[in-house]
Amino acid sequence: MFPTSASVVIIGGGVHGLSTAYHLAKRGLNDVIVLEKEPQLASGSTGLSAGGIRQQFSTEVNIRMSQYSVQRFERFQEERDADPGFRQVGYLFLLSTREKVAIFRESVALQHHLGVGTEWLSPGEVKIRWPFLNVEDILAATYNATDGYGDPYGVAMGYARQTRRLGACILTRVEATGIDVVGGRVRGVQTTKGSIATEMVVNTSGPYAHLVGKMAGVDLPAHPYRRQVFATAPFPQIPRDAPMTIDFHYNWYFRPEGPGIITGMSKMDQPPGFDLTVDQERMLKVIKHGIHRAPVFEEARIMRSWAGLYSVTPDNQPIMGTVPGLEGFVCAVGFSGHGFMLAPASGLTLAEIILDGAAQTFDISEFSFSRFADRTALTAEKHVI
Ligand SMILES: Cc1cc2nc3c(=O)[nH]c(=O)nc-3n(C[C@H](O)[C@H](O)[C@H](O)COP(=O)(O)OP(=O)(O)OC[C@H]3O[C@@H](n4cnc5c(N)ncnc54)[C@H](O)[C@@H]3O)c2cc1C
Repeated sequence: MFPTSASVVIIGGGVHGLSTAYHLAKRGLNDVIVLEKEPQLASGSTGLSAGGIRQQFSTEVNIRMSQYSVQRFERFQEERDADPGFRQVGYLFLLSTREKVAIFRESVALQHHLGVGTEWLSPGEVKIRWPFLNVEDILAATYNATDGYGDPYGVAMGYARQTRRLGACILTRVEATGIDVVGGRVRGVQTTKGSIATEMVVNTSGPYAHLVGKMAGVDLPAHPYRRQVFATAPFPQIPRDAPMTIDFHYNWYFRPEGPGIITGMSKMDQPPGFDLTVDQERMLKVIKHGIHRAPVFEEARIMRSWAGLYSVTPDNQPIMGTVPGLEGFVCAVGFSGHGFMLAPASGLTLAEIILDGAAQTFDISEFSFSRFADRTALTAEKHVI
């Protein structure tokens, strides 16, 4: 039987929708429906993510939320009965321009103030720890040992299992096609399987944020941008405990993945869109830069590749919370490439907004939709690739 009403309808069965549903159900509100248009949960950005988890951000709210999320990932197995695949191999940012070093000086001071143990490393220190890296053109680096990477699909499915155990409803192959708004209030959701009456809709549709926003008459400035990922065959030349390594100036990264590595390089000058093709030219650029940064990459063999979508906002900060003038519409979208790692904190926060009327644990004023009305109110997150 298709449900015809719910207290809360969540549009999007990725890690944010599922974390939100879990946190609502855990607090006793299980009259919740999650709608996922695809046959599989977490098959959008979540399942295509590189899974990096770090506390090295430039804004206080991102540092605080990621510190909280790291604690949850550390205890995910005991708290959520699922393996998050969390490997705390650290995150290494390589800095090769004075401008980037200056930006990181400020943010590392903030990270220290908030209790993150980020280390400054000289090129020589980097070389001693990770001899396979070429540090000739590096000025400095930052490293935090408790960062690392996890399994976004495993985390999302952990939330999904707990949510179902707590009695909430998760539907796949059901697409939200419209949101009923009457007199500035949400009244229901139209779907490909029928209508659901509700007074609360949550937009956690990832790269589709803008389209779902439009259904409620809201112009959310969060747009999809393609990111390509390349996975190698077994590559024992790179140690399994190598950190997630970001060559910040070049938007290039790699990390171990099973017996191989995954690597990518964000292309910043592309138009938004839903294109998910992988292009040969990008692959060659990624490999070429890889060989420069770690000459041993010459021996790497690309075995698989895929593309996923970032949902990007003008200040690289998510849009979280309510929308002025529209009652019953809440969103958590536009995570700009760091959404997986913030999902535990974001689900907690959305549940607080829905059940308590406002965020309690974190000050998310920088994430408000209304910040875009006054562009001078934007505080950009600077550590993004
Ligand atoms: C290549 C790549 C690398 C990344 N690397 C990292 C990283 O290292 N660390 C990190 O923290 N983050 C990373 N991210 C970002 C992270 O993956 C995302 O921020 C996060 O997964 C977003 O989760 P979500 O639940 O909001 O979106 P999604 O996982 O995309 O889920 C949204 C879901 O909504 C569904 N949906 C959309 N519209 C509708 C509708 N109308 N009706 C029903 N369902 C609908 C979609 O099918 C989708 O399943 C990366 C992303 C990509 C693409």
